[in-house]
Amino acid sequence: MAKYKIPRGTYDILPSESYKWQYVQNTFRKVARLYNFKEIVTPIFESSDLFERSVGDSSDIVEKEMYKFNDKKGRTFALRPEGTASVVRSVVENNLDLDANSTKLYYMGPMFRYDRPQKGRYRQFYQYGVEYFGSDNALIDAQTIALADTFLRQLGLKNYKLEINSIGNATCAKDYDSALINFFKPHFNELCSDCQRRLEKNPKRVLDCKNKTCKSIAKEAPSMLDYLDEECSTHFENLQKYLTQMKIDFVVNPTIVRGLDYYTKTAFEFIDSNLGAQSTLIGGGRYDGLVKQIGGRDVAGIGFAGGFERLLLSLEAEEIKIPNNDKPDVYLVTLGEKAETISAELLMKLRADNISTEFHPDKKTMKAQMKAANRSDARFVILLGDNEIEQNKFNLKNMETGEQELVDFQEMVRIIFQ
Ligand code: AMP
Repeated sequence: MAKYKIPRGTYDILPSESYKWQYVQNTFRKVARLYNFKEIVTPIFESSDLFERSVGDSSDIVEKEMYKFNDKKGRTFALRPEGTASVVRSVVENNLDLDANSTKLYYMGPMFRYDRPQKGRYRQFYQYGVEYFGSDNALIDAQTIALADTFLRQLGLKNYKLEINSIGNATCAKDYDSALINFFKPHFNELCSDCQRRLEKNPKRVLDCKNKTCKSIAKEAPSMLDYLDEECSTHFENLQKYLTQMKIDFVVNPTIVRGLDYYTKTAFEFIDSNLGAQSTLIGGGRYDGLVKQIGGRDVAGIGFAGGFERLLLSLEAEEIKIPNNDKPDVYLVTLGEKAETISAELLMKLRADNISTEFHPDKKTMKAQMKAANRSDARFVILLGDNEIEQNKFNLKNMETGEQELVDFQEMVRIIFQ
């Protein structure tokens, strides 16, 4: 039995799975490039203060789920629970917010939340996300949503839904908060203890609660959409106009509040009901005050983040086969001592020609080597024995068709690349 066990809520990406991760990551990079977003990589830990101030200390992420620790000098850091705060910190620190046009960034990497693990929810999980700084035009909201939609479509997913909402700006949000407090107060004793606290700190979060009683009370709560001021409701109408123009299907869901404090105006989620309880594939929204709050200029921002784990679960649920490009081109079978000696040079030549090659010198018989060749999933087998060496040729077998040809090195390379 293994002496050490992986921490609860984490997992290894094993070689039998890693090609799937490479595929979804490469696809995300490709789509981000289509929209001209550039990659940013930030550290996986930051001053915990950064998350407390931006994500908000009433959010579950900060209140309950953050991996916080002190370093040897007593500074308090946290493993990042999400990506936006770090990206905004970097944007401000590196003056990326001074760009006269726009700053368009994407990221990928591990995030950490101490939550109860279940299918689609882990303590270390991998997010992909984008952030767009420099415009509050609703067309940018629509384009950001379109990027996420393009990504899901390029992967072949179909069974997801886009839900959008507007949670207003600071002014209308205040009116709405008061309306919510008035609505929930008579039910105060029925609310769960979390929501009793939320009602004081951030009443919108009560709408997000998964508790059955809270949920059924919240059903009758006033809708944010009735509290939007003119600027916010025009913005929301424009977003819907652009999405319709772009032929992106959506439904308006006024209960989407998102669990993080920094959102303003647009909030959206891509939902896959195949996923059960953890059905949000991607979540995002606008955060116009955040850059200023972190010490930068007053620039608008919008972004989204999604988890690769749930994406892979969705692909599995829709039975979408992920191409495996992580196989060797060639397996080299050597028969006899001469062939083994020559193989040292041949392997180098093949790799110099960009041909991915596998071999096992300890397997001596043809049968053992062919068995290993099959297991390796190589497209071709090169058979090299005394006969071939004498003729300065190679016996090349196509493992898909079973065809075998005696060819020289150049011809062999040509056929492999065909
Ligand atoms: P959030 O940052 O909470 O808005 O989450 C954005 C997306 O990240 C979600 O829609 C999920 O796809 C993914 N995600 C969030 N938390 C987890 C988690 N604990 N495990 C796996 N994926 C997660």
